[in-house]
Amino acid sequence: MEQAWIHIRGIVQGVGFRPFVHKLVRERGLFGNIKNTSSGVELELEGEREALERFAEELPRRAPKLAVIEELTVEYSDELRGYAEFRILDSKTELLRDTLISPDICICDDCLRELRDPADRRYRYPFINCTNCGPRFTIIRDVPYDRAKTSMAAFPMCPDCEREYHDIENRRYHAQPDCCPKCGPEVFYLDKDGQRVAGDAIELARDALKAGQIVAVKGLGGIHLACRCDEPEIARTLRLRKQRDEKPFAVMCRDADCTRKICELSEDEQGVLESFRRPIVLLKKREPGLWHLSENARMGVMLPYTPLHVLLFGNDIDMLVMTSANLSDTPMLTDNREAVKALCGIADGFLLHDRDIQTRCDDSLCWVLDGQEYFARRSRGYVPFPVRLDRELSPILACGAEQKASFCLSRGSYAFSSQHIGDLKNMETFDAYSGQIAHFERLFDIHPRAIACDLHPDYLSTEYAADRAERENIPLIRVQHHHAHLAACMADNGVSEKLIGLVWDGTGLGTDGSSWGAECLIGDFKDFERFGSIRPIPLIGGDLVTKEPDRVAFALLHDAGLDTTGIENAALFEKMLSAGLNCPLSSGMGRLFDGVAALLGIKSQCSYEGQGAVLLEAAAAEDNGVFPGMLAGSPLRFDWREMIREMVMQRNRGESPDVLAARFMNTLIEMAVQQCRAARETSAISTVALSGGSFQNMYIMTRLPARLEGEGFRVLRHRRISCNDEGLSLGQLMIAQAAIEGL
Ligand code: ZN
Ligand code: ZN
Ligand code: FE
Repeated sequence: MEQAWIHIRGIVQGVGFRPFVHKLVRERGLFGNIKNTSSGVELELEGEREALERFAEELPRRAPKLAVIEELTVEYSDELRGYAEFRILDSKTELLRDTLISPDICICDDCLRELRDPADRRYRYPFINCTNCGPRFTIIRDVPYDRAKTSMAAFPMCPDCEREYHDIENRRYHAQPDCCPKCGPEVFYLDKDGQRVAGDAIELARDALKAGQIVAVKGLGGIHLACRCDEPEIARTLRLRKQRDEKPFAVMCRDADCTRKICELSEDEQGVLESFRRPIVLLKKREPGLWHLSENARMGVMLPYTPLHVLLFGNDIDMLVMTSANLSDTPMLTDNREAVKALCGIADGFLLHDRDIQTRCDDSLCWVLDGQEYFARRSRGYVPFPVRLDRELSPILACGAEQKASFCLSRGSYAFSSQHIGDLKNMETFDAYSGQIAHFERLFDIHPRAIACDLHPDYLSTEYAADRAERENIPLIRVQHHHAHLAACMADNGVSEKLIGLVWDGTGLGTDGSSWGAECLIGDFKDFERFGSIRPIPLIGGDLVTKEPDRVAFALLHDAGLDTTGIENAALFEKMLSAGLNCPLSSGMGRLFDGVAALLGIKSQCSYEGQGAVLLEAAAAEDNGVFPGMLAGSPLRFDWREMIREMVMQRNRGESPDVLAARFMNTLIEMAVQQCRAARETSAISTVALSGGSFQNMYIMTRLPARLEGEGFRVLRHRRISCNDEGLSLGQLMIAQAAIEGL
């Protein structure tokens, strides 16, 4: 006989871990106890050495699916206490704020079975859940995680639920949101004026949807607008009412088979689509393409994740538009009363319930690359699970940028990245942003001792950071935008040595005061140099160019010495350019994409950021052609003028825009490879990190890494966080830490 002392760190509380251990201990014939600690759980077990070893080996393999074991240590000793039973100990340390909080998880198979079982007491109950599934992050007000500190506090358990809650053999042992029709929340249906309609709320909503109406549906982290997918007229009405001109709508499909009716679905993609995190997956569309829902070649699809969604679909609705309910770029609605007010004239009905959404959390959005999520938005289902770092950090708050705002807080070797917040361009979004920072700091007990922000002085996030740093008298570290992207990719991959970073995005303030965005950097957390870039493009009319890429097309043609008379307002642009009137220079990759999309006639007026790039990627044919290009100067700039000349010549010769779009991206890939080769020659570094929003381009992401690897480079890309500005706060965090260490 021996004793084993086992300590486990990670998400092991509130996920059915102790009942699982209880069962496994019994199977192995061991005795001892288990208790929650500030960082996980601690086990003291006695038995034969072999049985103890088997137990320690099996534990991580068989752990409940929501449990995340970050670390497991075992110590053996001969000192026996002579346990004769296995006990679950109560511990005061449970009250410490050092544990991790689980993200929200989709309904599990066991609950699904009960939901459909007429004999079950939770038959068709839209809030069914257990320790393996249900809401977490979105209902938690404070820690420690127990019912009183969640939005379930308003619903005292009935005796039946209470019994399950205390029964270690039960699937709902210590499931904080556990409830039933007798004691839990209830769902109701309101008409367009917010008046309650008598009858089965879910059936009322289903009837309204089938009849072609637009229905607001309360989900886990916010309220959606739902409607039928098959009628272009309905989608048009929704667009009109929501003033959402051309942005794609996401779709919720009943299951994988329904998804296959509209999209291609690989085994890997199906795996992510059906995973318990239930992100929106960007899938290749199949004909006829549902172009009225999305002009993109890909469609964002997710599966039902709450029991309410499951009941809403029943077995006869295949798919529904499911788009966030919000108004003109403000955060997604979460509150019943506000929703009824704000969606007046937009929704024809409301399927709501009386469980409050404590924390807003938008749907996550990703592609599937090498079998894994490649994030455009890391939010519901993933947040607030931290990114584990390879080092310990001081408590720092990193404030992110402006678009796709996010923040990041460090505690020990964890970085807690926020959920999707939105573009920090209005007060509503700013309030959500500052409110979430306060919520995270309380939840994870973090008191920042330094603050990091972007170099751009006009971002609301920078103002917030500067203001707090001054008020709290702590250091403020301003981080160059693309340096932060590079550092984010390094931290995402757990490396800290000096790298080559290809950072391509729309815009970010450079250290020279100009706008950067197609950068080849060499650097680490401490420092960086701008090794390469592209020839700057004059932005005629400044920010206007993102909406009117024609202006960029004009600048490209003009600079390449080509005829510009085909472009509307050419005379005006010419005048502005020669007078240098509001024509700041930018080396943004996003701008080059916009300009080329306009030149090729793919998109000349944009209604949302990056639209030109998305459509250019969608248009690209299979073609291996490359345009000529030249790299020169220091920084080593890609001179795109020769490329533009050749492109225009081929266009005038009648080559199709689809082929030219492919050749344009092939040229960028060649340019990148040449830049990296030159960078390797001067630095002897052969690892390349890819970061920035332009790497949301799957044409490039499925080609550039392989091409670089063929040249002997090791390629790092984002894996755990988004490659766009949402992921940038993690990089700011790492750079701030390095700056503090250097002080
Ligand atoms: Zn469940
Ligand atoms: Zn109950
Ligand atoms: Fe960026």
